[in-house]
Formats: sequence, structure tokens, C-alpha cells
Amino acid sequence: MLERCLGTHRVRQMQRAIRHGKITILCLFMTVIVLRGTIGAGKFGTPEQDLNELREFYTHRKRVEPHRVLEEVQTTTTTTTTTATNEDSSGSTNSNNYETFDVSKIFVHEGADEKPDPNKPYSLGPKISDWDEQRADWLKNNPDFPNFLGPTKPRVLLVTGSSPKPCENPVGDHYLLKSIKNKIDYCRIHGIEVFYNFALFDAEMAGFWAKLPLIRKLLLSHPEIEFLWWMDSDAMFTDMAFEVPWERYKDSNFVMHGWNEMVYDQKNWIGLNTGSFLLRNCQWSLDLLDAWAPMGPKGKVREDAGKILTRELKGRPVFEADDQSAMVYLLMTQRDKWGDKVYLENAYYLHGYWGILVDRYEEMIENYHPGFGDHRWPLVTHFVGCKPCGKFGDYPVERCLRQMDRAFNFGDNQILNMYGFEHSTLASKKVKRVRNESSNPIEVKDELGLLHPAYKAIKVSTSSS
Ligand code: UDP
Ligand code: MN
Repeated sequence: MLERCLGTHRVRQMQRAIRHGKITILCLFMTVIVLRGTIGAGKFGTPEQDLNELREFYTHRKRVEPHRVLEEVQTTTTTTTTTATNEDSSGSTNSNNYETFDVSKIFVHEGADEKPDPNKPYSLGPKISDWDEQRADWLKNNPDFPNFLGPTKPRVLLVTGSSPKPCENPVGDHYLLKSIKNKIDYCRIHGIEVFYNFALFDAEMAGFWAKLPLIRKLLLSHPEIEFLWWMDSDAMFTDMAFEVPWERYKDSNFVMHGWNEMVYDQKNWIGLNTGSFLLRNCQWSLDLLDAWAPMGPKGKVREDAGKILTRELKGRPVFEADDQSAMVYLLMTQRDKWGDKVYLENAYYLHGYWGILVDRYEEMIENYHPGFGDHRWPLVTHFVGCKPCGKFGDYPVERCLRQMDRAFNFGDNQILNMYGFEHSTLASKKVKRVRNESSNPIEVKDELGLLHPAYKAIKVSTSSS
């Protein structure tokens, strides 16, 4: 019937097409069976589920491979580290635990220091008597390193430091870190360079005397520095906006916080403080260091000198000679020689004793603002006697650490304010936002103008370089 309607040839063609179609469908069927066998079918085996499973199969593959590669890298690193640790530590440890690791293992025991000859008088270094000329020549030959950055702005190097060993207590190093961060912040704002010292340049001058050989070395190595500012590691800047009145010291070489009457009349051992002072780079200062040093060498010299200082100075407890008492003693016994170039400053806190300041921070915030540097907003708060890096201090540890945190945060608020933040309270590490974010950041001005303070501005030279 079909053949009659369409003709024989046409029917054969159709039959062939149907046969081919059957084979194609069979192939398709087989493919689906194989795929299902490999990757599994959805619960009901719908095409949509198959597609989803296929998609997941491929994306999962992509996710898995880098992960495995990472694991391989990590395994390799761990193996290398473990091997290195084993080699380093003479096979005794391969622990990854910092908490239980005995750090004393990595500090090489270097034996006792050489005993100095007791008959040889102590000296900070070879005698120099023409430093002013040597330095003037250097400055003339190096006009790119001027000792003044502006008409009244000297080039200043702030120097601080601590013992080469980790602190005696676990938290001490954290406070050293806070303290150096605080100094870096102040110095960045005021265009002052910073030097942090760990090295003991002269074993005889360990402890608080270590600053003397260090200061001498830095003055001689940096003729471009006009003033060196020594600051103890336990002292922090609490007024970030206060600029030292440099002009006031144009005729002085040595500036300390103190009172003339207390030093020269009362001979009081706390008539001045040597935890934060300014020293001009000149011959006079080298001579002063030489006159200051003889009580420093540790051992018998320092102990005997301590007895003299306790006997001669008002209020001094019995202990070995310290640099501060020695300075009071030097000034009171040789006022004629040194007095006219020493400026005992008390119009602001170049050093501020923490005991009289820390409980008043809230009152200061209530009534004043940064920039005064004095009792209204102290430039420096110095934690005299706290010994945060030592084993024992002269005050309860809890009060010292709590108040050091408050002093740090008090100063840090002025830094955070530049960026629109502030500590939640003076006791808090947490910060809160004090300004809304702006879409015109250039127009946002920080309250104290510390982002671009005038005293840091540098006049760009007109000569082409
Ligand atoms: N110092 C140092 N190396 C040492 C020990 C102390 O550089 O090995 C410094 C440190 O900056 C410290 C300062 O000497 O702050 C004076 O000591 P400290 O502040 O403990 O004396 P205090 O101010 O309590 O009299
Ligand atoms: Mn100190």
C-alpha cells in the first residue's frame, strides 16, 4: 500500500532512515546508561537532575584539585620545617608549640664579660677636643644634610632602647612595643628621626648608664644632628600636638626637666630627671659626657660612688650610682663649669612623673585639649620605678600596667583621631568611630591638624635636581 503510494525506491529510503535512527537512539541510550553508571543519576533520573549532577561533578573537581595541591605544598613545608628544627636544636625538639618551647635554648651562652683593669681610669673613648671645628667642616662639605630643617627647627634624633635580652616577665616586651609605637607616632608628626638601641656598646656601662656610650657614638657619627633627644623606654608621649620650643634653647646645650633650686640649693636627687632630655651636638656635650661617666663602670666603682651620692644628695635611698644622681651631683659640685649651658625646664613636662598625672587624664580631657604640654596636657608621662621589663619594680605591678595602658591610649587617641577613631575608654583596646566616613576624603580635616602640621612642612628647594 505504502509502496503503491510512494514508489519502491522511496520506501526503501525510508526503511533505511528508520534503521539508522534506531541505531542512533540505541547509541544515545547506551551513553546515558554509561554516564549514569559513572556519576550516578538523580533520584528520579530526570534530565534536569542529571544536568545538575554533571555540573556539580565538574565544579567539584575544579575545587578539589587546588586544595590537594595546597595540601601537598603544606606537607612539604612542614617536612622541611621539621627537618630544619631538628637540625637546629641538636635533635632535642621538634615542637611547633611556642608556649611550651624553652626560649633560653636559642640564646647562645656567651660567657662572662672581660674583666676591666681596675687601675685604668674609665674612658668613653679617645679624647676629642676639636669637635666643633670637625663638625662645622663636615656641615660645610655636606650641604644636603643641614643641621637645621627650618630657621628655628633643628634636626633632631630621638634615641631610646632596652636591654638586648627579652624582658624578665612575659608582658614586658608588649609594653616596650607599645612604647616605641608611641614614640614613632610622635616623631613622625614632628619630623624627628628615631634610633632604637638594643646593643650594649660598653659592657662596663650596663643598665641605665648604657645611654652614655651610645649617645657619644651617635653624636660623632651624625654631625647633621643638632639635638639628640634621649627618652627612656618607660616614658610615653601623651601630647602629640606639642612642639618643643626649640628657640628657647638657642643658648643652651643640655635641657632636662627640673628646678634650679632643687638641684643647686637643695641638692635633691629628684631635682631633675634624666629619663627624657635634649643634648646639643657640640664639644661642650662631649666634655659633659666625659665628666658624667666616671661613676658608671659597674662593680666596685659604681657601688662606692652610690655611697657618696646617697651621703651627699637629699632624699636618695641606698643603692649603686645611677646616671640621674650623678648628674645632680655634677651640677651641684661644678655649677660654674656647666650651669650656664644647662636649662632646667619646668614650664612643660619634658619628663612628667606618672604618679601625679595618670589619675587626672579624664579631668584633662574634660577641660583642655592637646598642645599645652604642661599640667593641662602633659607632653611626656614617664613610668619611673615601674620597671615593666624587669622582675621587680618599686610600685604594684597592677597599678603600673593599668596606668601604662591608660597613658598609651591617652596619647594614641590623638593619633586615632586623625583617622576618625578613638579608644572606647582610656582603659580599652577597642576603638570606636568618631567621624562618619566621607566621600570627599581630601576635605576632611583632623581636629588638631596633625596630618599635615606646619612644623613638619619642608620648603622645597627651587634648584633643579
Ligand atoms: N636601658 C637600656 N638598656 C638596658 C637597660 C635600660 O637602654 O640594658 C634604658 C631603658 O630605656 C630604660 C632606661 O635605660 O628605660 C632607664 O631605666 P629605667 O627606665 O628602668 O629607670 P627609671 O626611669 O625607673 O629610673
Ligand atoms: Mn625610666
